[in-house]
Amino acid sequence: FSQLIIVSGLPTSGKTTRAKQLYDYLSTRIAETQPPKYRLHLISDDSLSVSRAVYDLSPDTVRLHTRSANSSEKDARAALYGAVKRVLSDKDFVILDGLNYIKGWRYQLHCEAKAMRTPNCILRVACSVEQARAVNQERLQQDATAQTERDNSEQSASEVAEAYASENWENLVFRYEEPNPMTRWDSPLFAVLWEDDEAQTRRTFDQLWDAMAGEGRKVVKPNQ
Ligand code: ADP
Ligand code: MG
Repeated sequence: FSQLIIVSGLPTSGKTTRAKQLYDYLSTRIAETQPPKYRLHLISDDSLSVSRAVYDLSPDTVRLHTRSANSSEKDARAALYGAVKRVLSDKDFVILDGLNYIKGWRYQLHCEAKAMRTPNCILRVACSVEQARAVNQERLQQDATAQTERDNSEQSASEVAEAYASENWENLVFRYEEPNPMTRWDSPLFAVLWEDDEAQTRRTFDQLWDAMAGEGRKVVKPNQ
């Protein structure tokens, strides 16, 4: 029995930050199970080296080698899907850190998880549009600075996460399809807010753990 945790939220809303916190939280919880029952994986655009540019649909920024504006996003989704599928089993916890903003995509992941007898849940990273936009703008500036620094030294690529081009960012916010906990593929849904402190975040993670691996989980027949 295991779990696919689909992180979802606006661009630069703090998804990777929360996904890493959840990763640390789950590794501790898993280590407490004796013997340790699960393996833990964190899959993201960053871990698969998917560029933010694949989400950019504006015609003038589409790369010459891509067939159409969203073919590169489809390729990225195929890569993510493949990565999830490779590790998803009844002994694996998988955190999928990404926008995961398309309803149909979350449905597809839900079906894949269900086929593996591994239910999914959603971790909604909630943040105001203004707050998230400010983060992206700050990153765009950092990227520009980092670029200059690289030009002036032999240093390798900086640790600063890639920013979204402004128009790409605005379009993604516009296209974002809010998870709906009334549908089976978007439930159960757990939410962390930008303001949530360590204690509140931990409470949410505790609820997630209880629903997924603790006493509260649905019983799945073993060895089937
Ligand atoms: P995303 O993965 O959604 O693009 P990140 O997790 O990379 O977002 O976060 C973007 C920036 O915002 C980072 O610099 C991070 O340190 C900061 N950040 C993220 N979540 C919070 C939070 N809850 N409170 C304060 N700063 C945060
Ligand atoms: Mg991220």
